[in-house]
Amino acid sequence: STPLFAVYGASGCGRGVMPLARAQLMRAGVPVERLVFVDDAATAPNVNGQRALRYEEFLQTPASERHAVLAIANSKVREQLALRLAADGVHAWTVSAENVVRMDDVVLGEGAALSPFVTLTSNIRIGRHFHANLYSYVEHDCVIGDFVTFAPGVKCNGNVVIEDHAYVGAGAVIKQGVPGKPLVIGRGAVVGMGAVVTRSVPAGATVVGNPARPMKTKG
Ligand code: UDP
Repeated sequence: STPLFAVYGASGCGRGVMPLARAQLMRAGVPVERLVFVDDAATAPNVNGQRALRYEEFLQTPASERHAVLAIANSKVREQLALRLAADGVHAWTVSAENVVRMDDVVLGEGAALSPFVTLTSNIRIGRHFHANLYSYVEHDCVIGDFVTFAPGVKCNGNVVIEDHAYVGAGAVIKQGVPGKPLVIGRGAVVGMGAVVTRSVPAGATVVGNPARPMKTKG
């Protein structure tokens, strides 16, 4: 048998990643029948023309090896599923649109999903299971942790550190840091859509607006 490839998640995120996965396999000469959706709530046998399996069926389908990209925006779910994949010997698969621009010295961890028009410039470190949605970019000297999620159009400027599980909303702009004194988006922080982030964000905080400030919670 031959390798089997999966886009895990058949909802909004997964349906955006599937065409990229299909194109990537076509470029590599892999038959499109070896690509499936995996979804634990799979109800239809087929989504957008691609076979949809439950995870158990994916594991039972004969294959020399299995590869899956976690196409689910919720980073905690990605982390749980990444553990499950590893335990079952499924390889974390990186799927990248053909027009992604990747410059010098970019180290990208396993399992990334890079959408069309994403740019990663030079001297960048990115952890596992990164999602960079449409038109987002990462500029020079950034360090990005594991399970970080960029919605469409995120502008992450140079010398920024983003810790594990941070979520950056659509169109947010993150000001550049200084070499040796980066702007830091803390672990699990949420940056609201359109926010203009001019200084570091504490772990777990949610910031919104311009300039971005912690969201007021009801007292
Ligand atoms: N899902 C899954 N296993 C899990 C958690 C989620 O298969 O353990 C699937 C879920 O059934 C749904 C998709 O992942 O189809 C998540 O879709 P959602 O609309 O919540 O978000 P998005 O597509 O934006 O990530």
